[in-house]
Amino acid sequence: MYHELPRTASFWSFLLAVDEDLAEEARKQGCPCGGSLHCANYPRKPRGAGLELTEFQSLRLSFCCDRDGCRKRATPPSVRFLGRKVYLGAIVILVSTMRQGPTPRRVRELSIRFGADESTIARWQIFWREHFPQTPFWKVARAGLVTLGEIKSLPYSLVDAFLSRHPPSEGWMLLLRFLSPITVPGGLQIKVSQ
Ligand SMILES: [Zn+2]
Repeated sequence: MYHELPRTASFWSFLLAVDEDLAEEARKQGCPCGGSLHCANYPRKPRGAGLELTEFQSLRLSFCCDRDGCRKRATPPSVRFLGRKVYLGAIVILVSTMRQGPTPRRVRELSIRFGADESTIARWQIFWREHFPQTPFWKVARAGLVTLGEIKSLPYSLVDAFLSRHPPSEGWMLLLRFLSPITVPGGLQIKVSQ
């Protein structure tokens, strides 16, 4: 079974709204030094949405501590951006999923459709196959997923688990929200918070 991304501007606006909530949670917590966090977003040019995103929709929401001598950056988790990858997280997941499944789509076809070259797609697959399963996040998180059925291949099984139980927009949001702890700098080392 293949799962497509909802192809509407409202889907990306929806994801942005989720990111704003995640950012607000982080802002309220403040800096570990006791300082307050001020807005310090950084502009990005994410690829793969299949439609023109506004400047605001393309921002990676982030903060900076206002206390002299600290000034640390605090970047909240995101449902739109996966680490430093240029492509939107949902695209990285979707394309990797399409390479797996019962009848994997050809790299060339995916490359044309999403504009990611072969070596990029190969890197994403290495990420899911070799790096992701080793993360503390996944080691903890998978225990909570036993009810979703057997996780045979990543990220295919994950996408299938979330998308087969929910309408597309909601399923994607829940999956991206689930994966959001790995999206912060150094996040591949962090643990699940709940
Ligand atoms: Zn601080």
